[in-house]
Amino acid sequence: MSTSGLDELYREVILDHYRSPHGAAPIDDPNVEVEGHNPLCGDELIMHLDIVDGQIRSMHIEPRGCSISVASASMLAQQLEGASLEDALELKKTFQAIMQGAEWPEGSDPGDLEALDGVKNFPVRIKCALLAWMTLEQALAEYDHDLVGEVVIDRDIEVVTRKS
Ligand code: ZN
Repeated sequence: MSTSGLDELYREVILDHYRSPHGAAPIDDPNVEVEGHNPLCGDELIMHLDIVDGQIRSMHIEPRGCSISVASASMLAQQLEGASLEDALELKKTFQAIMQGAEWPEGSDPGDLEALDGVKNFPVRIKCALLAWMTLEQALAEYDHDLVGEVVIDRDIEVVTRKS
């Protein structure tokens, strides 16, 4: 896809993630495996999580698709390896709100995710950016349904559980 229209600096950040995504290293014995699919763009994502004591100890992702979907998955892996499930859910909620037009809350540290802010101006691409986060939410719900509650996946996105 084209990233034209996004800020030049941000475009570089996105392409860096696209070229060498975080979380590429396989993990030995994941306790959750899910696959997300965004048919509108053809983006696919395999996500494996190793969760121990309420923390994402390690994460493996295999993103395939457009630069925005791959970069978003890579940023997710970059930010959430080692995070608590609560923090992971919180970031997912915040990022989803950003894609719906919100600003980053005062004092938050979006890291490289800030580079995706401009995506909200391209409605067709928002699902590309959200695929990884919807996939994550489903994965966490498989692990701890009480914590996550009812998962409402965007109607255009499909997430399939392979192992839980
Ligand atoms: Zn896409």
